[in-house]
Amino acid sequence: MGILEDAIYNAKTAAGFVGKKAGKIVDVSKLTITAAELNSEISKKCEILGRVFYESKTTEKSYDTAISELIEKISELRGQLDSVNELIAESKNKTKCPKCSMVNSKEAIFCAKCGERLRNTEDIYEPDEIKDENSEESADVNAQIDTEADNSEAPASPEE
Ligand SMILES: [Zn+2]
Repeated sequence: MGILEDAIYNAKTAAGFVGKKAGKIVDVSKLTITAAELNSEISKKCEILGRVFYESKTTEKSYDTAISELIEKISELRGQLDSVNELIAESKNKTKCPKCSMVNSKEAIFCAKCGERLRNTEDIYEPDEIKDENSEESADVNAQIDTEADNSEAPASPEE
């Protein structure tokens, strides 16, 4: 049983990292590595769990404690993975000013602190889709909208 216990208790996790979050923008690539580490840790634990479960079914010994501890550990790791994934999503929505390191929202054109341009205006104005006014479908949709509400000036967007 010594080997199994070692596997359960000595496996390193990325737990310490998750504790440091607190709204700070973190390097997404580091977070991605952490997520990968957590994933592989979860996989390892699941594999051990499978082995312990097999042992428990094929021998007289009871491994209930080990099994419940493994399940607990896996749940904990999954929780950490969720947090890391949340942080990744959060960090992807923020952009750091290359000049002063101020954290701005991804939509910001200029840095709120130093006024540095964060992105080109061409990125902002996406060309509208070209609408086919002549299609019969759009006429149908317009007729429907007219009878339903007063938003008839909304452009018809027929499903194709
Ligand atoms: Zn700045």
